[in-house]
Amino acid sequence: MTAEFAAMLRDIEDELACTSREVGKTAFDPRVMAALAAVPRERFVPLSHRTLAFANGPLPIGHGQTISQPYIVALMTDLLAPRADSVVLEIGTGSGYQAAVLAEIVRQVYSVEVVAALAEAARERLAALGYANVTVRHADGHDGWPEHAPYDGIVVTAATPDVPPALVAQLRTGGRLVVPVGFPGDIQQLRLIEKREDGSVASRDLLPVAFVPLTRALR
Ligand code: SAH
Repeated sequence: MTAEFAAMLRDIEDELACTSREVGKTAFDPRVMAALAAVPRERFVPLSHRTLAFANGPLPIGHGQTISQPYIVALMTDLLAPRADSVVLEIGTGSGYQAAVLAEIVRQVYSVEVVAALAEAARERLAALGYANVTVRHADGHDGWPEHAPYDGIVVTAATPDVPPALVAQLRTGGRLVVPVGFPGDIQQLRLIEKREDGSVASRDLLPVAFVPLTRALR
């Protein structure tokens, strides 16, 4: 591991120390940090930005989209409480980085991307890196991916003012949904939603975040 990569992992832990009160934890699950350490982040950013691949910030990936900040990827992964036998749905494949981090931990990742070119590029990148347990689909994530439901965890990596009901419906009892809720262009709240045994949901807003919008138009 390069010094820059090691520094990225330290930056993630430092930022957690600064936000531990909001997010309600002082350390990430060691499996989450091991996954972050295992995924070659530089392979998910455009060549023009490779020197910044290990900076703790978001980066452009084309088509007006971004790869999320490493700390946010770690946080969202940890909030899902992923296990080795989990099946997880991601809405917003983007570069495929978040999907790869999840794929290091869980049995299967299904990921939906609304921009065809990004879906195709992520599919090729993940295959080239040997992630056989990620399946990418070009579709509107508002509908989730009903064929493989229910999911142990669902992560939405684009901002929406209203949590799509299909996603809550496709969550297993005891499952967790992590989604930035708020208007695009504004600050959103990272929301953790848990589905209880009786089918009701518990919801908690954890941290202000800034994501690109969850759009409806297939591109
Ligand atoms: N998880 C990504 C970051 C994605 S940025 C990564 O690790 O790189 C958000 C992504 O959500 C963008 O690629 C955007 O095109 C996609 N997106 C926006 N609206 C969507 C929708 N309705 N369904 C699926 N993907 C969507």
